[in-house]
Amino acid sequence: MTGTRILVLNSGSSSVKYQLLDMRDNARLAVGLVERIGEETSRLKHTPLHPGDAAAREQNRPIADHEEALKAVAAELAQDGLGLDSPELAAIGHRVVHGGKRFTEPTVIDDAVLAEIERLIPVAPLHNPANLTGIRTAMALRPDLPQVAVFDTAFHTTMPESAARYAIDVKTADEHRVRRYGFHGTSHAYVSRKTAELLGKDPSEVNVIVLHLGNGASASAVRGGVCVDTSMGLTPLEGLVMGTRSGDIDPAVIFHLMRVGNMSADDVDVLLNKKSGLIGLCGDNDMREIRRRIDEGDQEAALAFDIYIHRLKKYIGAYYAVLGRVDAVAFTAGVGENAAPVREAAVAGLEELGLAVDGELNSVRSDEARIVSPEYARVAVAVVPTDEELEIAQQTYALVGGA
Ligand code: ADP
Repeated sequence: MTGTRILVLNSGSSSVKYQLLDMRDNARLAVGLVERIGEETSRLKHTPLHPGDAAAREQNRPIADHEEALKAVAAELAQDGLGLDSPELAAIGHRVVHGGKRFTEPTVIDDAVLAEIERLIPVAPLHNPANLTGIRTAMALRPDLPQVAVFDTAFHTTMPESAARYAIDVKTADEHRVRRYGFHGTSHAYVSRKTAELLGKDPSEVNVIVLHLGNGASASAVRGGVCVDTSMGLTPLEGLVMGTRSGDIDPAVIFHLMRVGNMSADDVDVLLNKKSGLIGLCGDNDMREIRRRIDEGDQEAALAFDIYIHRLKKYIGAYYAVLGRVDAVAFTAGVGENAAPVREAAVAGLEELGLAVDGELNSVRSDEARIVSPEYARVAVAVVPTDEELEIAQQTYALVGGA
């Protein structure tokens, strides 16, 4: 292998996000996004980042499918002298949402791997088909190039059975592969490792609670670099209050809505995944807007915020108990990195657990990983920007023989 570039692809059902990185210095060479694939209003936005900051380019035209999308991306990259046929390209790393129990590591994709990702479609009906389409299209474009799958679930496969199993009939659970898999694993892995770095320690020496708070949100308990529990389950619906998902709920609510509310399984699915969480509670899922409304005295927004924080606090407490000793609580993703009031409220009143934030440090805006707890606090509260693309690129590069 001679190349040092890695293309990272994140293929959704109607979108493809991509980044091209040079692994010698982890530099982004180009980033971009194709959205609304299959619609009249498709859009490709391509931003070359190297050398210098060239202007972003946009294409607004119908893009029929993933094949056309990837070809358009390849053409944009070629225009920057970064074509996919370059010997500099070492591999393509694909984000794959569900790897089930089997995929515990990044994996070079072959026919057997494709078949297994396909076999997992029943537990990830929204994500795995789109991921597969992206992989197959990229393989057709560069059949000779190693293509690597990096799974959102992989980091969580170390969870003990006591955390991974639901307390339901074992035979039924196993027959339908019902268990807790967890998601956002690439982010939890990256952030827990970075947090150890920030503390000047080896990951094996520290216990971290990672709070990935984006539009989707999940918490994890990481002991010595190994995930021992996480809040998402069979699907990303379980756990924290999210932008549009309910998170934890009494499962009987579902039967109740079906029996008494005359809703179908699909109706409840849409309700809990798309119309619940912050948007269901107050009509907004953007934390900036919610904070603005609270500042104006909006009671509905204030209650939505309180419910969000209450759940977050419960998970901090739960994972504190799971870990026994906690060295750091790390906040990441859109809300975790940017919303100082969320961080402050989440640890408020937890001084007895060694948790506190320093008001001044916490209000500083920065893109750097940093500690926002006061000197005296027993547990570090950290803000650690996540970088899932870099993590996918590094795992891919390592697997194909790079450093
Ligand atoms: P995802 O990858 O899950 O789509 P992100 O991690 O990008 O989400 O997070 C998106 C969310 O981050 C937005 O919905 C918004 O609530 C929140 N967010 C982004 N910027 C800010 C900010 N400056 N202050 C507060 N919240 C923010």
